[in-house]
Amino acid sequence: MEYRTLGRTGIRVSRLCFGSLTVGPLQANLPVKEGAKIIRRALDAGVNFIDTAELYGNYEYIREGTAGRSGSVVLASKSYAYTGEGMRCSIEKALRETGRDYIDIFLLHEQENELTIRGHWEAVEELLKAKQKGTVRAVGISTHSVRGVRAAAAVPEFDVIHPLINMKGIGIRDGSVEDMKAAIAGAFRAGKGLYGMKALGGGALISVKEKALAFALSVPGLASLAVGMQSPEEVDCNVALFEGRPVAPEVELAVSRKDRRLHIEDWCSGCGRCAERCSQGAISLVAGKAFADRSLCRLCGYCAAACRDMCIKII
Ligand code: SF4
Ligand code: SF4
Repeated sequence: MEYRTLGRTGIRVSRLCFGSLTVGPLQANLPVKEGAKIIRRALDAGVNFIDTAELYGNYEYIREGTAGRSGSVVLASKSYAYTGEGMRCSIEKALRETGRDYIDIFLLHEQENELTIRGHWEAVEELLKAKQKGTVRAVGISTHSVRGVRAAAAVPEFDVIHPLINMKGIGIRDGSVEDMKAAIAGAFRAGKGLYGMKALGGGALISVKEKALAFALSVPGLASLAVGMQSPEEVDCNVALFEGRPVAPEVELAVSRKDRRLHIEDWCSGCGRCAERCSQGAISLVAGKAFADRSLCRLCGYCAAACRDMCIKII
């Protein structure tokens, strides 16, 4: 496994970051022991970086998965808090529930632009206080927007940016793949540490996984990529691909046989774009939200590409 330093933070992270949303209650909802076992498998394979968020509700999985070696694991979390008090509660919750003395990277969750960052400044000040106390080592934002990356690059207080990037631009809210690559390159030149998310487009690019990961790994300026994993075979497959090794046939088979399904997030606004895009007639709007009929869905991922709010994932 290759390791890189995140900008000027001095924090060394593996190129493969364990995206932990997938094991927790919002997606696979695995029993904690099972999710923790998958995390440990990744750590045993050389992954030293885990990405989570308060929203994911999975701190318990991380506590158990990193038990006895949390000092060697880099943990990133995020909060939607916009007040000082709210962010203080978020940091305390993360420390308490993960059992750690510090969180390596704490981000404002999903910032869109300079205005939303300004609107969260009280929370940023709280993060900076935590950094001084040593309970947080680096601060920044996660974002699905080109404008968010550009705005964060111009903020001297930010150390880390976690942008969305994939070869089809699925989920980028305000621009093309090239726009996002240029924004990432600019932020890197400004000394920010960057690690990408959604390299597989929320599952929509799983059928071209190798190509999609190779693309994201080739984006200059990204130290690491957070990739969601929810089975031991997915860990083995991703570790092999990140190390440039062939995937063992039995691992390939197990990953391809995984029973996947379409997952639609609660924040769906019911705009109907996904239903228009689906040629199988698998999506309809029920009570103002998208609903997928599993018997009709071919898991092609086209609807996920049509959703600007990244509500649709194949898990
Ligand atoms: S495109 Fe997204 S927000 Fe619109 S209805 Fe579909 S899932 Fe919901
Ligand atoms: S994954 Fe493909 S078949 Fe399934 S609902 Fe989306 S567009 Fe339709």
